[in-house]
Parts: sequence; structure tokens; C-alpha cells
Amino acid sequence: VNTTGKPDISREKSTELYEKSKAFFPGGVNSPVRAFKSVYGTPLFIAKGDGCHIWDADGNQFIDFCCSWGPLILGHNHPKVREKVTEVMQNGMSFGAPTALENELAELLLKNNKFIKKLRFVSSGTEAVMSAIRLARGYTKRDKILKFEGCYHGHSDSLLVKAGSGLVTFGETSSAGVPKSFADETIVVGLNDIAALDKAFEEFKDQIAAIIIEPVPANNGLLLQTKEYLQYLREICTKNGTLLIFDEVISGFRVGFEGAAGHYGIQPDIITYGKIIGGGLPVGCYGASVEIMGSISPDGPVYQAGTLSGNPVAMAAGIAQLTELLRMGFYRDLNNKTEEFTESIQRFATARNYKFKVFSIGSIFWFAYTDKETISSAEEIDPASMEKFKIMHRELLNRGIYLGPSGYEVGFISSAHTKVDLEKAKRAIFESLDLVF
Ligand code: PLP
Repeated sequence: VNTTGKPDISREKSTELYEKSKAFFPGGVNSPVRAFKSVYGTPLFIAKGDGCHIWDADGNQFIDFCCSWGPLILGHNHPKVREKVTEVMQNGMSFGAPTALENELAELLLKNNKFIKKLRFVSSGTEAVMSAIRLARGYTKRDKILKFEGCYHGHSDSLLVKAGSGLVTFGETSSAGVPKSFADETIVVGLNDIAALDKAFEEFKDQIAAIIIEPVPANNGLLLQTKEYLQYLREICTKNGTLLIFDEVISGFRVGFEGAAGHYGIQPDIITYGKIIGGGLPVGCYGASVEIMGSISPDGPVYQAGTLSGNPVAMAAGIAQLTELLRMGFYRDLNNKTEEFTESIQRFATARNYKFKVFSIGSIFWFAYTDKETISSAEEIDPASMEKFKIMHRELLNRGIYLGPSGYEVGFISSAHTKVDLEKAKRAIFESLDLVF
């Protein structure tokens, strides 16, 4: 048994690159979780990806279940995406003026998603959510927003309060640098706690512009909610003149083309998307009814803009990727594959009486080191269980399997993961579980 805490794979090149990057960037990285701080502290530098595989700078090959934190639903370097991007790039990279490609991607989205009627492209999930919040405040002329503990909505000020993702990974769920007066406008309640929600609406009657939720909360583990609870959010919003925002930056195009709105059959007032929509390039968007979107500049008073918004190369990647998702049977096949994978891991763990659960929906999965049958709020996760994740993560790297370097983050399966790859991954997971427990 490895007692060093570090994987046995060669890491000379990654370590050399990390030593250099530490002088350039805080923590040596451009996004905190990448630093591997919560596992063993030295990130792997990735050199190449193809299909479901990635290779690090030392030439180690892995089956990748991080998939760039979700966007790569077709796997790495998909030929259709690469070809479309290469073709569009021949005509230039950016104009800061409208192009036909923006219409093409918008049409693909709006024709196949009945939950939004108009949208605006931005360049990241953070921007999409930040803009959606401003829109909700501008439209309702109210200031307060209500979010849920453990939900992560990007790094804009009012949303870095009791958030998941990198914040929970590093044990401090709110950020320094957010003025108290901003944070005071954010009401936080626990997920799946109707009494707390009712109380907040009583206390802040007629002040709440929007409830924002990840309808599939996937940044603090996978905290699946019931349809009835999401329906309750819809009702309390309608009753109080509050807008319901579904942040579908992860769930969008993951649990189906119409995301969680389609999966649960619930109509939110505003929806945000990111990740998959850009095929691996930086794209996000927010959408709503024609009336609500009428508040956005230049039609309305809510200002929101972007030099690179609707960038043609990014639009091209999004068009190519979403076109593949619309092929008959795409989601059926991907979701079935995920179900088979997760169920067989669960059967293995249950047969051995390991306190281990695999939670999953669509092509998203999360390993929980628990014997609880369901986990639907952040407080139900035992932080001590992350020690088990650390061992699991290391042993999986040793066996050629790459999970995102945090036990609070979910894994993703792409259409490029073949049965053979998943069988190989399962064997590695079984061996690693035997070492963890
Ligand atoms: N919203 C959700 C639900 C997310 O998971 C994320 C990122 O993981 C964001 C928003 C922010 O997106 P980005 O990292 O592209 O800014």
C-alpha cells in the first residue's frame, strides 16, 4: 500500500511545469480547484486529449471523467467540432459585430428548447448567471436574491456566499472581498428545507427578486432534489412575484437537450447555460420569455455587454457539438451507458458492505463515501469522508483513471467513453475501493 499520499506515476515534467507556473499564477493555476490542493498538492499538466483519453506532460494516459468539468460531452477533440472550428477560423477570429453563426446557434437552441424564447450569448457561466441576476433585479425592481447552501453559480460577488465547488473544497464557503452590503442582499437557505424557505419569504416579503438554484445541484457533491421540491419553488415564486432562475450551466444539455427544465417539466423564468453550449470554447448564455428579455439593453434598461460575446469561433464549436446532441438516440445511449456503469459499481460496493454510494443522473455521477440512501443537502455530507476520496483519487490515477481533484465535484461520462473503456475503469474502481475500505 502506498503511504506517501502521492500517486506512483511519473510526474517529473508536471512537477517542473508546476514549479514554473507557481511564479506566474496564484497557486500556480488559473482556477483554484486545478491546483490539486485537496488531494496531494501537485497538479498534472495535461498535454493532449482525444476521445475519452487525456495524456499528461509525462506521457501518462488516463480515461478522463472530468471532461473539462463537463463541457466535453462528445469527448476530447471531436472531429465534427474540430472541423467546424477550423473552417470558421479561416475567415478571422473576432469582429465585435453580429455574424450569421450567432443566429445559427441561437436557432438550434430555441427551436429545440421550449423553455426559453430569446437569449443573449456571453463568454462564461459566471457571466451568464451574473447577468441573469441583474436582469431579475431590473425586471422586478427588487434587490434581494435567494440561493441555496452548496449551490455554486460562478464567482460574481453576490453568489459567493455559502457556495460549493472550489470554496467548499477548500473549506471556506464564502469569499473574502465581497462587501457585507452585497452579501446582505443574498439570502441563503438549505436545499430541500421548505420551512426555511417559507420563513425567508415571510421575513423578506416583496423584496426577493429571484430564487436561483442549480436544479441538479452538482457543485457540492450531487444533491439531487425531488420534482415536488422544485415545483414548490415554482409556486412560491409565482405567488410572491419573484422570478425563478434555473442555473443549468451543468445540467443544461447533460440530463437532456432541454436540461433539468425538460427533465422535471418545470418552467423557470430565466435559465442560464454554459459549458456544453460552447463545445469546449468559452460560451455561456441566459434566456427567458420575450417579455423578460425585453428588459435587456439596447431594448430595455438592464445593461449587459461583451467584447467577445457571440465570438464566431466559439459559436462554431457550439453549433457542431449541439448538432451531434440532437441526433436520434444520443441521450438514450449516453444515459443508458452511465446507468449501467454506475449501477455495476454500486452492486460491487454493496456486495462488499462498503459505505459507498454512487449517485447519478443523465451522464453525471458522484461517488459518496456514506451509507445514506439519499443526500439532498450540503450538511448531510461528512467532510471526513473526503479523506477516502483522496485515497480513491490517487489509486485511480495509478490505474489510468482521471477524476476531477475534489471529492465535492461530480464526474462526467461522454459519448466517447466506449464499453471497453468503462469496463477498464470499473476494474480500476473496484481495485481502488478495496484499498479505500
Ligand atoms: N453555474 C454553475 C452551476 C456552475 O457549475 C459553474 C461552473 O462550474 C458556473 C455557474 C460558472 O461557470 P464558469 O466557470 O464558466 O464561469
